[in-house]
Amino acid sequence: RFDVLIVGAGHAGAQLAVALRQRKFEGTIAIVGDEPEPPYERPPLSKDYFSGDKSFERILIRPTAFWQERNVEMLLGYRVERVLPDQNRVALSDGSLIEYGSLVWATGGSPRRLSCLGHYVRTRADVDRMKDELPDVRKVVVVGGGYIGLEAAAVLRKFGKDVTLVEALDRVLARVAGEPLSRFYEAEHGKHGVHVRLSTQVECLEGEGGRISGVRLATGELLPADMVIVGIGIIPATEALAAAGVEAGNGILVDELCRTSVSDIFAIGDCAAHSNRYAQGTTIRLESVQNANDQAATVAKYLTGDGEPYDTVPWFWSNQYDLKLQTVGLSTGYDQTVFRGDPASRAFSLIYLRDGRVIALDCVNVARDYVQGKALVQGALVISAEKLADASTPLKELAA
Ligand code: FAD
Repeated sequence: RFDVLIVGAGHAGAQLAVALRQRKFEGTIAIVGDEPEPPYERPPLSKDYFSGDKSFERILIRPTAFWQERNVEMLLGYRVERVLPDQNRVALSDGSLIEYGSLVWATGGSPRRLSCLGHYVRTRADVDRMKDELPDVRKVVVVGGGYIGLEAAAVLRKFGKDVTLVEALDRVLARVAGEPLSRFYEAEHGKHGVHVRLSTQVECLEGEGGRISGVRLATGELLPADMVIVGIGIIPATEALAAAGVEAGNGILVDELCRTSVSDIFAIGDCAAHSNRYAQGTTIRLESVQNANDQAATVAKYLTGDGEPYDTVPWFWSNQYDLKLQTVGLSTGYDQTVFRGDPASRAFSLIYLRDGRVIALDCVNVARDYVQGKALVQGALVISAEKLADASTPLKELAA
């Protein structure tokens, strides 16, 4: 029996164990994870771990010894297959049963797949397989113009590969950013030699004997490729919990304390669907380190008798070439955008407003706007487009 049993040795699960011990929680803690490695950061998988600039040891969330020192039991290489809420127990892949006081579901998600051919970027193993193949690869097709596809394309260009990026919608980053930012990134990738193909539907991946030969488009055209990387989103890992009767839709439904519909069971991170004030109160899943960390903190506080609703401003980052994008807030639902600084200078912010209020900023190579813009988003401040556009006035002065 463990007082706190965490399922998923990823970002959220690891941070919960860290936060519990920081808050002097003295009960027993175990983390069950189906990957062989102790918890590591996923963002570098499409950035500096993929490029080889960071070793695996450098992306571990904590050094291996940490878990033992803090008395956190790591049950790695096991999957939780079933949850038995009536008995407060879970069943592992090897048939063994573990009893819990509180169960925290932190299982993330698995990549949406096109076929068994092609590479997906979710785990260290995925990226190591890709890196092993790369020396023999000349032509790569990246399917999906989201952050992961764009970041992978940037690294592949660094390796000198011939890269085509295929996006089904009429712009990249369509789900997460406004059109001006999409156009900026499309142009940057074009300048770096990526062939960006928009409004392009993939029919299937073609290959023989497990080896890829190309991507067949809906038009019948074949894009020849020695490697295909698919980044078209994830499906949250909710199955075992939903099968146990816990309310789920696109994610496990949780309240502002990350409690699910069943007592003693919580969900955090990419797999948790919650009502978010920065998404106008709609129920969303956030796939970000910020959300994983902050929901972990919410549960740690709750379990140590200090419950406080989850209500933090979302932030995210993406590195492509020498462009450091930092975002704060959520831009969905915006009705106006304002440029602050000139995109041609490759250092600017795109500010999103809704009903005159600042709801989000996408800051490219301007860390200062990102840091100072947070207060504008938190306060949903009404500030004129003229003032926001004037890059000579620091945003903190507008917030005052
Ligand atoms: P995960 O980190 O996915 O961990 C879940 C773990 O649970 C996995 O190990 C999974 O295998 C395991 N698991 C699932 N089911 C079971 C089961 N039944 N039993 C046992 N174990 C199970 N976020 C940012 O903020 N900025 C970025 O720049 C950024 N870049 C990214 C780049 C890539 C390539 C990827 C993949 C993600 C990126 N993210 C980024 C997102 C960020 O990594 C995730 O939001 C974060 O990892 C979510 O943490 P999590 O614990 O919810 O899920």
